[in-house]
Amino acid sequence: MVRYITPHSLNEALQILDQEEHCLPLAGGTDLTLLVRDRTVQVECLLDISKLPELVGVHQEGGEIRIGPSTTLADVASSPQLPTALRTGAGWIGSPQIRALGTIGGNICNASPCGDTLSPLLVLGGRFRLRSAGGEREVPAEAFFLGPKRTILTRGELLVGIHLPREDDRRSTFRKIGGRGAQTIAQVNLAISACWREGILRQPRLAVGSAAPTPIRIPAVERILDGQSLGDEVIAEAAERTAAEIRPICDQRASDRYRRWVVRALFRDALSSLTEQEVYG
Ligand SMILES: Cc1cc2nc3c(=O)[nH]c(=O)nc-3n(C[C@H](O)[C@H](O)[C@H](O)COP(=O)(O)OP(=O)(O)OC[C@H]3O[C@@H](n4cnc5c(N)ncnc54)[C@H](O)[C@@H]3O)c2cc1C
Repeated sequence: MVRYITPHSLNEALQILDQEEHCLPLAGGTDLTLLVRDRTVQVECLLDISKLPELVGVHQEGGEIRIGPSTTLADVASSPQLPTALRTGAGWIGSPQIRALGTIGGNICNASPCGDTLSPLLVLGGRFRLRSAGGEREVPAEAFFLGPKRTILTRGELLVGIHLPREDDRRSTFRKIGGRGAQTIAQVNLAISACWREGILRQPRLAVGSAAPTPIRIPAVERILDGQSLGDEVIAEAAERTAAEIRPICDQRASDRYRRWVVRALFRDALSSLTEQEVYG
């Protein structure tokens, strides 16, 4: 039988994780409960971190925004202080029921290559704070993912904070395509952020999900776009390069050929919406 524990504080949660060998944190449970049901993970106890006040909410602190990992996807999607790409990514996950339970921390720690908050976090300069009973470390979002369902988290370690720099002149956007219009897992998702001033794109960041074993930044395309006024030739070159740089798999959701083809369209669409957007989107 699997035990269910509700700690009263973050410190208590970290102590329990330190002492219990086969204990997993449970946030919304929308990923984990399926794995437990199917016995894909071996677990003796579930530690419910969904209500710990230290892990919930969106806060502005100085030059950055801190998101508690147990903040629900619904709350992320409806937080006006968060950039457009992240709100859109969270808002397109699953159904209202899934977004009411599922959390941004669960989406990150589940580390699916198609997780819809991951490519936004990569282009927004996200940093993750990880804590165990023994100490704390902070890593860039890009360094966190090792492969499908694999992260750098070690035993006893929790994601305790998601930090975004406040970059007031940066815009961002997110696009996703799946097998149907709603409640769909991404065949490809894509996020772009950049500064767009006087018709010139600066410091662009591009990330694609569901197109490699982890969500990936595409620096080669960022270099093509930086300092450009986005004429047809530049956009065409960048779209082709995006398709060339991804490493998609062929699975039950889509072929690698389709993913390469569709990423061009997502890229063009995202770029045009970015340049039409209000600042700090
Ligand atoms: C019907 C359905 C539709 C879905 N659609 C989408 C979709 O469109 N896009 C998408 O991206 N996802 C989708 N998902 C997947 C899922 O809903 C999301 O990944 C969700 O964000 C997971 O959050 P959770 O709080 O439920 O995580 P949980 O299931 O509670 O946890 C997931 C994993 O993260 C670990 N974990 C959670 N929090 C922490 C923490 N703070 N520190 C360390 N480890 C932690 C858990 O131990 C577990 O291994 C869907 C799921 C379902 C069932």
